[in-house]
Amino acid sequence: MWKYDPKSTKADEFINHKEILDTLEYAREHKNDPVLLREILERAKERKGLGHRDASVLLACEDAAINQEVEQLARQIKQDFYGNRIVLFAPLYLSNYCVNGCTYCPYHAVNQHMPRKKLTQEEIRREVIALQDMGHKRLAIEAGEDPVHNPIEYILEAVDTIYGIHHRNGAIRRVNVNIAATTVENYRKLKEAEIGTYILFQETYHKESYLALHPTGPKHDYNYHTEAMDRAMQGGIDDVGCGVLFGLDKYRYEFAGLLMHAEHLEAVFGVGPHTISVPRLRDAEDIDASSFTNGIDDATFAKIVACIRIAVPYTGMIVSTRESQQCRERVLSLGISQISGGSRTSVGGYATPEPEDRRSEQFDVMDTRSLDEVVRWLMELNYVPSFCTACYREGRTGDRFMSLCKSGQIQNCCHPNALMTLKEYLTDYASAETRRIGDALIQTELEHIPREQVRSIVMEQLGKIERGQRDFRF
Ligand code: SAM
Repeated sequence: MWKYDPKSTKADEFINHKEILDTLEYAREHKNDPVLLREILERAKERKGLGHRDASVLLACEDAAINQEVEQLARQIKQDFYGNRIVLFAPLYLSNYCVNGCTYCPYHAVNQHMPRKKLTQEEIRREVIALQDMGHKRLAIEAGEDPVHNPIEYILEAVDTIYGIHHRNGAIRRVNVNIAATTVENYRKLKEAEIGTYILFQETYHKESYLALHPTGPKHDYNYHTEAMDRAMQGGIDDVGCGVLFGLDKYRYEFAGLLMHAEHLEAVFGVGPHTISVPRLRDAEDIDASSFTNGIDDATFAKIVACIRIAVPYTGMIVSTRESQQCRERVLSLGISQISGGSRTSVGGYATPEPEDRRSEQFDVMDTRSLDEVVRWLMELNYVPSFCTACYREGRTGDRFMSLCKSGQIQNCCHPNALMTLKEYLTDYASAETRRIGDALIQTELEHIPREQVRSIVMEQLGKIERGQRDFRF
């Protein structure tokens, strides 16, 4: 019989099924308990986070007034820790070859309809130039799992190629990597290649469902997959990004599992995940999302985001173009700190966006706007779009990043960097209207920088950017 132990290195012990069931039972019993709910909220206001049990009670709560307070607190924590900055990135699909049998993903090995494609280094160059010309500085590379077509050497070469491309003023300064669970040795190689965050979605924490949803291939091994972040950290990767694919199993189970995973990493390595992603299952070539019975509506999705924000205030949260503009707008204020923009989910889709490529898309994108439109929209909502990648460059990753964030210092570095990288974007890539709105926003934001000395440094840099000088690094 497995027992719950957040410090254990065994998946069945740190994501313990019985502990999750007990948590859900506890949440059900107390979801309308005003005294406990009030007590949990008061503790949450200390901004030190909540454990999976308390957070699950908040998620289950049915009291409208308390739920409103949960939303308000999430908004406040988001504002206090991340200000009004939203970091932008794009996914780059390298290869859709895959040997796994994931029943929800069109890459699954028995899908005969999907044209299989793997980018050559030259094709990667073309994709990256297209991405740089849009204004992107931060990418998440994606690939199916296939030891023959997509071995670690291919991924490492791709990372090297991407960092080496400088088209006009373009540069990709942070490459995050979303590839299948691998060995400590391979994680060490990824670390040496200077990747940003290693991202791996758990898909579902429910072991029985996981085994059924991943019937064949190496990904079938639940424990190997669930223990991947431990191996990544042992391999020296400071920043790991967790997530579940909402819609596969019951969201309350996933929520508790996700927080237990974060608690485990914190307990063992002293630092929780750098980011949490909240992807929702979408239709795709060969996949009908409605045939999965655990889909969640937008209101539930928003509540999950708010409760994650409160439970792990220091963890960045990512929402992708799987979500519509309207849904993204709602969750931005509740805790999201990073979004993708102008994304293509097909292999080679940035340089060659022809219609025939649609069959190789990984899933249907709901927000199909260009990066320029996304940037303008964010600014119209009073957010500062940020292309900053400094957390990585300054070595402020892992526990150092967390301690900065926890001490509130992050505002002093991130806000000026956000303004300078936004200025870079506006000068080099934006449409006239986006630039006009952006320049006005930067002026307003400058007035809010409290320290005179910092403000004058930022103003000097902004002037240089406008004059085409690029003598700084973010
Ligand atoms: N192959 C890697 C692995 O095994 O983790 C990850 C790369 S995959 C391109 C990225 C993510 O896309 C998956 O982890 C999964 O959560 C998500 N995904 C797969 N099918 C999807 C669908 N139909 N709708 C939305 N997201 C999907």
